[in-house]
Amino acid sequence: MYKLLTPGPLTTTDTVKERMLVDHCTWDDDYKAITQRIRKQLLDIAQASDQTYTSVLMQGSGTFGVESVLTSSVGPKDKLLIAANGSYGLRMADIANTAGISHLVYQESYQNVPDPEKIDKLLTENPDITHVSIVHCETTSGILNNIEGIAKVVKEAGRTFIVDAMSSFGGMEIPVEALGIDFLISSANKCIQGVPGFSFVIARREALEKCAGLARSLSLDLYSQWREMEKDGKWRFTSPTHVVLAFAQALKELEEEGGVAARHSRYAKNNRLLIEGMEQLGFRPYISKSVQSPIITTFLYPENKTFSFQEMYHFIKERGYVIYPGKLTDADTFRIGNIGEIYEDDIEKLLDIFKEYKDLKE
Ligand SMILES: *Cc1c(COP(=O)(O)O)cnc(C)c1O
Repeated sequence: MYKLLTPGPLTTTDTVKERMLVDHCTWDDDYKAITQRIRKQLLDIAQASDQTYTSVLMQGSGTFGVESVLTSSVGPKDKLLIAANGSYGLRMADIANTAGISHLVYQESYQNVPDPEKIDKLLTENPDITHVSIVHCETTSGILNNIEGIAKVVKEAGRTFIVDAMSSFGGMEIPVEALGIDFLISSANKCIQGVPGFSFVIARREALEKCAGLARSLSLDLYSQWREMEKDGKWRFTSPTHVVLAFAQALKELEEEGGVAARHSRYAKNNRLLIEGMEQLGFRPYISKSVQSPIITTFLYPENKTFSFQEMYHFIKERGYVIYPGKLTDADTFRIGNIGEIYEDDIEKLLDIFKEYKDLKE
């Protein structure tokens, strides 16, 4: 048994896992009511009103949700601008390439956030761009992108704004309606602390209405999924019933914790403690503090040549925690997530394990 310090799947409560011990059928009224309640709760978390916004659940992992939005909303005459500073941003370009979606990539280095002014300039220079997409917390490095600043220029330019808030939604306040985000994507197994199995989309109704007939995939057709779900909560195809029940419990527990503000403060505290403690042990974070997210942190390998990530990983795992390898091309790094059912006490224990390992090596 060990706890996950990874950014999803993450450590969930026993009560969330226990909810999966029940078999549920998909067309039953009770089950459909659970789906409808989840959809409403997601809008509340997004600070979005039911009149202007709706939410749609989609089978599959988070990427299925991103692919669903991109392939359902960017039409044959449209063009997508993708602001990327990590592998999840670049994955959107992969999706666009695979689906034959016309697009332009504005790439920043992994340590820099995309600049609203540069996006504004690109929109002026390329009037054919209709949609702009970006990742909120780039889980690749843990950098936090400035979606507020970018929302402002995208909305002023009258374009559709798509945000992959996979690893931040539920763990950070994102006022979706105030920012005018048209589509926001997240998934069951990140900050809401459910188990993997579906993604969800917060969509501005007007933008979603425009998706009718645009889908380039049958099963990922966001508009059709919405139409079906909007009737009475029935999913279009078989839904991950156990995952949905666990998610309903996870939402209840998020509320009991005190909502997104309370969860954010727990995560931020975990993150602060982690970075301070790791710095004291001589590990340097890869992302500068001003743009570090409270979700996951990338640390550089120590300069010591005998350092072995594999050895350290197993040492830590044997003592009850699983950390995460790095995902950067230009530096040797590892990552530690601090979301999920993780508390200050866990971070302190983890730091003790790191210290024990370091003492052993010196
Ligand atoms: C987790 C994550 C995804 C989705 O990854 P899946 O493996 O498909 O669940 C997408 N974007 C970001 C930023 C993520 O953190």
